[in-house]
Amino acid sequence: MKIVLLGAPGAGKGTQAKKLVEKYSLPQISTGDLLRAAVAAGSQLGKEAKSFMDKGELVPDSVVLGMVEERLKKDDCKKGYILDGFPRNTAQAEALDKMLSSLNMSLNAALSVDVPFDDLMKRLTGRRTCKSCGQMYNVYFSPSKKEGVCDKCSGELYQRDDDKEATIKRRLDVYNAQTAPLMEYYKKKGIVKSVAGTGSIDEIFKQVCSELGLK
Ligand code: AMP
Repeated sequence: MKIVLLGAPGAGKGTQAKKLVEKYSLPQISTGDLLRAAVAAGSQLGKEAKSFMDKGELVPDSVVLGMVEERLKKDDCKKGYILDGFPRNTAQAEALDKMLSSLNMSLNAALSVDVPFDDLMKRLTGRRTCKSCGQMYNVYFSPSKKEGVCDKCSGELYQRDDDKEATIKRRLDVYNAQTAPLMEYYKKKGIVKSVAGTGSIDEIFKQVCSELGLK
């Protein structure tokens, strides 16, 4: 199953992707995670990406496309994958189509996770991530038992640089201008599925599986 996850920053795409990974053993390809790893590693690509990420802007397509293509060629992608946070604009969607046809692959679904705009702000400003295992929390909705400490591995929780308020506003604007139009792009291909991204994580996951026709 080859899936693109659509939805605004904070809609919970990453959380649902992780649940799909656990249950169906599909690799999650998150361009945000790949870029953060490059930043943490201090690579040239990471250095180039960081200034865009800190401002809430999209990293140039040339950087992202090379990264995704390399990842899609790996063996674990043969049976399927979940693209999370990619594509982010029409040029990337078109480039993905070309990449897929050259690899003899096609998408099964573009799944949109819909969350009202007002909820997104709280979700993003409240988000905390574990430095060690990547587990995510929210100080408003799903706090860790002990503030700043991961329940799972006792790692340190941190707030992503781009989850600060001014950057969040910019990320949402960029989403509306550049990424939201992808709904139309995939609607024309007849592969859009939608779920309401409000409610508990497990309730949303049930809907996700049902929309994707997964048991
Ligand atoms: P995310 O974790 O998906 O919210 O991504 C965090 C940041 O990484 C975004 O605000 C962008 O700066 C950058 N980024 C992630 N995916 C892409 C992409 N497909 N194209 C361009 N920039 C991206």
